[in-house]
Amino acid sequence: MNDADLLIVGGGPAGMMAGLLFARAGVRTLVVEKHGDFLRDFRGDTVHPATLDLFAELGLLDGLLARKHDEARTLTALVAGRRFTVADFSHLPTARGFIALMPQWEFLDFVSEAAGAYPTFALRMNCEATGALVERGRVVGVTTVTGGRLTARLVIAADGRHSVLRGSAALPLRDLGAPMDVFWFRLPKQRDAENRTTGIFARGCIVALIDRGDYWQCAFVFAKGSADAIRARGIAAFRREILAVAPMLGDAIAAVASWDDVKLLSVALDRLTRWHRPGLLAIGDAAHTMSPIGGVGINLAIQDAVAAANILAAPLAAGDAVDDLLARVQARRMLPTRFIQAVQRTIQTRIIGRLLLDPGAPVSEPPLLLRLLDRVPLLQRIPARIVGIGIRREHIASPEAARH
Ligand SMILES: Cc1cc2nc3c(=O)[nH]c(=O)nc-3n(C[C@H](O)[C@H](O)[C@H](O)COP(=O)(O)OP(=O)(O)OC[C@H]3O[C@@H](n4cnc5c(N)ncnc54)[C@H](O)[C@@H]3O)c2cc1C
Repeated sequence: MNDADLLIVGGGPAGMMAGLLFARAGVRTLVVEKHGDFLRDFRGDTVHPATLDLFAELGLLDGLLARKHDEARTLTALVAGRRFTVADFSHLPTARGFIALMPQWEFLDFVSEAAGAYPTFALRMNCEATGALVERGRVVGVTTVTGGRLTARLVIAADGRHSVLRGSAALPLRDLGAPMDVFWFRLPKQRDAENRTTGIFARGCIVALIDRGDYWQCAFVFAKGSADAIRARGIAAFRREILAVAPMLGDAIAAVASWDDVKLLSVALDRLTRWHRPGLLAIGDAAHTMSPIGGVGINLAIQDAVAAANILAAPLAAGDAVDDLLARVQARRMLPTRFIQAVQRTIQTRIIGRLLLDPGAPVSEPPLLLRLLDRVPLLQRIPARIVGIGIRREHIASPEAARH
């Protein structure tokens, strides 16, 4: 007998959401996660309006928002000392007109708790998959780092940007390139009445400040491949560089005491040209690694999970074969993936690449687009829609079976 009907590798947003939805539909589901907890600092912390709507559809929104979070109703950018409003979420046709900024461990813990209401759900932490188990050309499970094997009728690879499953299953990958990497760190701050999440554009670097209430989650964006050169200049020079761009951080910058306080995140932009083979489906970053631009990767990963459950959960629960249905998940989700990646790529080349790779580029004149968005507030609804909802949004259509 198989260890589960559905084996999901990776307990990130895509894997946990898929775990909840398939278990809810009565599919015997096992999620395996290589870490021992959800407490990782490098994860994005955004829960978008479209995702909040999905929780409303599941009757879980109030419970989710009872968890500690902050609310970002607008996104702003600082260019040449001037603040521009780039996106205004308050007019979106969604249950909530804001992005909930919630530590991802809090979000994943909530989803795990909700999934635990179904007897068909199991989560195994500290369980790392090392590759796909293939029999007669079909993926029938995975091998694990302890030398074990886990088998299932279907495996979902939700193991993120460095997916071992997509590699071992030889799914074809198209690299779209990214000109930047990110140093990620936290600085303490006083809580403000308004959420002040913003991006600051300067010569040679961009600093993004995500307002997390009593701390800033900061991203220092720089030209790909120059991490070692920045480190070689020393931590004091790094602090000075940040302050030159974001002087409002003031004494808080002292919290970056050594390079141990700074994590390097390599930015990638790629997608599989085929997300499946018999017995295996990739979703989330494993199918399409997203750039941090717009902070949309989590929403897209979750929408993939919803689409997969909408298409596959009922037949899986009924004991039917689903190999022929896997292509429908890709067909459904490829358009939004391509669209968002095209937007990210355009921003990467037109704005970020120019700033980072050509430090002589002038930033005294904010781009026309920013000036337009600022002058015509109605236009701010367009980026708000792209970031907050995306295109081809999903709704929950998978069935609910009995709870405990
Ligand atoms: C610097 C940076 C900042 C970002 N900020 C944001 C943001 O603010 N908002 C946003 O929406 N997106 C952001 N993103 C993108 C976002 O992080 C991803 O798009 C999103 O996390 C994808 O979710 P996922 O579940 O597909 O993958 P992941 O979140 O990567 O989850 C994969 C999970 O699989 C586990 N795993 C990996 N390999 C194995 C294995 N072999 N066996 C078992 N488990 C395994 C991992 O531990 C992890 O828990 C950012 C990206 C970067 C690089």
